[in-house]
Amino acid sequence: MDMISVASHFVDRKHIESIHPYGNGNVNDTYLVTLHGGNRHSILQRVNTFVFKRPEDVMNNMQHATRHLQECAQEESRAWRVQQVLPAHDGALFWQAPDETFWRMISFIENTESFDALYSHRQAYEVGYALGMFHEHINRLPANAFETVLEGFHISPGYLQAFDHACRSAEREHIHDRELDFALGCIARHRAHIDRLEQAKAQGILPVRIIHGDPKVNNILFDKISARAVSIIDLDTIQPGLVHYDIGDCARSGCNPVGEEAGVDWREAFFDVESFSHLVNGYLERAGRLMSSAECGYIYDAVFLMAFELGLRFLTDYFNGNVYYKIHFPEQNKYRALTQFKLAESIHQQRDRIHSIIKEMRFFCS
Ligand code: ADP
Ligand code: MG
Repeated sequence: MDMISVASHFVDRKHIESIHPYGNGNVNDTYLVTLHGGNRHSILQRVNTFVFKRPEDVMNNMQHATRHLQECAQEESRAWRVQQVLPAHDGALFWQAPDETFWRMISFIENTESFDALYSHRQAYEVGYALGMFHEHINRLPANAFETVLEGFHISPGYLQAFDHACRSAEREHIHDRELDFALGCIARHRAHIDRLEQAKAQGILPVRIIHGDPKVNNILFDKISARAVSIIDLDTIQPGLVHYDIGDCARSGCNPVGEEAGVDWREAFFDVESFSHLVNGYLERAGRLMSSAECGYIYDAVFLMAFELGLRFLTDYFNGNVYYKIHFPEQNKYRALTQFKLAESIHQQRDRIHSIIKEMRFFCS
C-alpha cells in the first residue's frame, strides 16, 4: 500500500513530509504523518476490521466522544488534550480503500510520551487521576449515547467459555507443554469466581456507564516537560460497560513493573501494591463521587479479573493459532498469557492489603 496516497485522502499531498510506522499498539496499524517541513504531525491508522466488525460505529462513537470531551477539557484548570478525528476530503470520518481496508486520521498530541509500566508513585497517581477525569467527563452523557462496538467485551464468563472451547480443539502438544501447567492450574483454581462482576451487575450493585474499554497505561500520554498526564488515547472501544473493567485494566497494566511483554521472564511479573495505592488514590480523588461505597468494594475483583481474563484471552488466541493479537515470535501469546496469570496470582495473594487500601479510601465515594 502506498502510504502517501492513503494519507492524501485526508491531507494535501504537498503538505506531507514523510510517513513512518509508529508506536507499539497491538490492534491497529499506526503511522505518524509528518507535515509542513517537520513542524506538525498527525496519526494515520488502519483500523483492524477483524476486531471491529462495524468500524463506522467506532468512528461515530469516537467523533461524538472527542467533541464532548474537548468541551469538558476547556472547563478544566488542568491542561488536558483530546485527540480529534480529522475527516477525509469528502467529509467522511474514514476512508475505505478499494481493497476494503479502513483508514482514519486523528490529530497528534505533540510533545508527549507513554510508558508500558509505571516508574514512580507520582506517575501512578497521574494515571489514576486521568482515568477518573475521563470517566467523570464522558459520563456526563447518558450510557445509551454510544453504540456497543464489541459485543461481550470484558464479560469474563464469555472468555472462559471461549477458552474451554479452544482448549478442547487445541493441539496435543499445547496441552502437554509443561510450561503451561502454571496457567492451567491458575484457571482451575479461580474459574469458579469468574462471574463476580457480572453478578454484581445483574444485582444492580454495579451500574452500566460509559467506559474507555482499553485504558492500558500506555494509552495515557504524559507531557514531556511537566511529566503530568495530559491525554488518554486509543478511543476505539468507548461503549457502555462497567467502569470497573477500566479501573481493573488500568491497574493490572500499570502496576506490573515488568510490563505485558515479559516473554520467557514471565515469572518476574508481580502486582506492585504500593503503586496501586497511588493509582487508586488518583482515581477516587477525581471520580470517587460517581461511585457508591458498595461499588468501591468491587475494585479488588476488577483488578484480579482483568488480569485473569486477559490471560485467558491470550491463551485462547495461542491455542487458536494467533488470529487476534499481533505476534512477533510464535510463542508470544503463550508468554503474554503466563505473565497475566502470574500477575493474577500475585493480586490474589495480596488481596487483604488491596482490600484495606480501598477501604481506607472509601471516604472519596458518595
Ligand atoms: P492500538 O489500538 O493498536 O493500541 P493506539 O491508538 O493506541 O493503537 O496507537 C498506537 C500508538 O500510537 C500509541 O501507543 C501512541 O504511542 C501513538 N498514538 C496514537 N494516537 C496518538 C495521538 N493522537 N497522539 C500521539 N500519539 C498517538
Ligand atoms: Mg494502544
